[in-house]
Amino acid sequence: MAVRNPYLSKSKLIAAWQCPKRLHLEKHHPELGEISAKTESLWETGYRVGEISQQLYGTPGSVEIEFDKRVPLMLNQTRQLIDSGADFPIFEATFRHEGILVRVDVLIPDGDGWRAIEVKASTSVKDYHVLDCAIQDWVMRHVGLNVTTISLAHINNQFVYPGDGQYQGLLAEHDLTDEVRTLEPTVIDLIATARDAVTGPLPDVHVGGQCSKPYECQFISHCWPTDTEYPIAGLGGGKAKLGNYIALGCRDIRDVQIEDISAETQKRIHRITCSGEPEILDGAKLAFEALAYPRYYLDFETIAPPVPFWAGTRPYQPLAVQWSCHIDDGTGDGTLQGMRHKEFLDLSGGPPMRNLALELIGCLGDSGPVLMWTAYEKGVINNLVELYPDLAAPLQKVIDRLFDMQPVVKANYYHPKMLGSWSIKAVMPTINPERDYARLEGIKEGTGAADGFIEAIDPETTPDRKAELETQLLRYCRFDTEAMVEILGFFCR
Ligand code: SF4
Repeated sequence: MAVRNPYLSKSKLIAAWQCPKRLHLEKHHPELGEISAKTESLWETGYRVGEISQQLYGTPGSVEIEFDKRVPLMLNQTRQLIDSGADFPIFEATFRHEGILVRVDVLIPDGDGWRAIEVKASTSVKDYHVLDCAIQDWVMRHVGLNVTTISLAHINNQFVYPGDGQYQGLLAEHDLTDEVRTLEPTVIDLIATARDAVTGPLPDVHVGGQCSKPYECQFISHCWPTDTEYPIAGLGGGKAKLGNYIALGCRDIRDVQIEDISAETQKRIHRITCSGEPEILDGAKLAFEALAYPRYYLDFETIAPPVPFWAGTRPYQPLAVQWSCHIDDGTGDGTLQGMRHKEFLDLSGGPPMRNLALELIGCLGDSGPVLMWTAYEKGVINNLVELYPDLAAPLQKVIDRLFDMQPVVKANYYHPKMLGSWSIKAVMPTINPERDYARLEGIKEGTGAADGFIEAIDPETTPDRKAELETQLLRYCRFDTEAMVEILGFFCR
């Protein structure tokens, strides 16, 4: 029998705010959800930022209310600390009012009350953060706590880590008290919506923009049509617009009427998908054949830790930690067999960026186009310039030689199986089905590579695991430059 007033955590309320159907499915059919590597990585980021916030706000005597499935235990521990006149910060203080449970990241004594701080790994205040704080404020005040202010602390992405564990300045704090207090009616409405979602039937919600905002929903593969040859999500463009097509009964790209499409890229995808044949224009062949030799096919792997761990780096700054380069001197037949390959990966744990840059400059010589896929590599090299101004001149010469393959391919090629994406992972298998990233062992996408690198340099990682990760990282990065070689060869054959 359904419970009329079920207990709900703050995260469940935020799930209901994003989509009531999401909360219903989380509660009754969690097995239908799929947690992506990206989502897991975001959770890990949240934990890490939470740890640092305790270091920053902590004082001698600070107490953390450890998570325990027995909620009354956490509630009692919190209550005892507060009633006994605690004069030190409390982390994860736990409160419940009318079944709504909140765990407050940081609670600091403030005169005869408490200053509450919610810590987020983002780099700015978002609207759902304000709502998040409003839920906490509502619960704390209704259990009788004197909340003097409630603030949001987020990552300050201009912070430069000086080293030695000094993180003062990493978090930027915003007082949201006034804004939050105006949201009490919204909080009450949200609680009602969430309770209905949990106790009632599956809410009738169409897919749309809410499926990936503010968080990627774990039920996308359940709710969005996937049982057709060219699922409509592959038309690309905004999820809100795609949701409208689905509401009209479309499931496959071919179900959409061309008159209902306004954007040129979507019209092109629709036209080629309906034809069932790839479109290959001459522009790619002309552009690629005009490239001089030697040709360098370059790909970086990067990490962008929210909490920097190498001195001189900033939060979320993309840092190159690995590269792969195939070199075509023009003496072979343009296939991988006739090319040299060089690579860089340093898993010692120290900052590898300077040696990486020096070896890259040496590898790339003085002339010849440096081929890349998307403009990302340019940004990565610019970050190296920022880190090592003494290398600016040779790195700028590399930037001047960069040639982005993706816009050329995008303008001249589309295959229906690319499902609206010109990422190298989408293009490659349409040219050679054998070279499919899905077949790679272990690391098979960028987030996995970044996480794999960080795991590999962790001193607690076993030598066997480190060796396994090293193999996977080298294979993955090399796979990208091999793919670039094959893609160019496809157009120039
Ligand atoms: S995929 Fe979209 S419609 Fe389905 S539960 Fe998630 S947010 Fe709601």
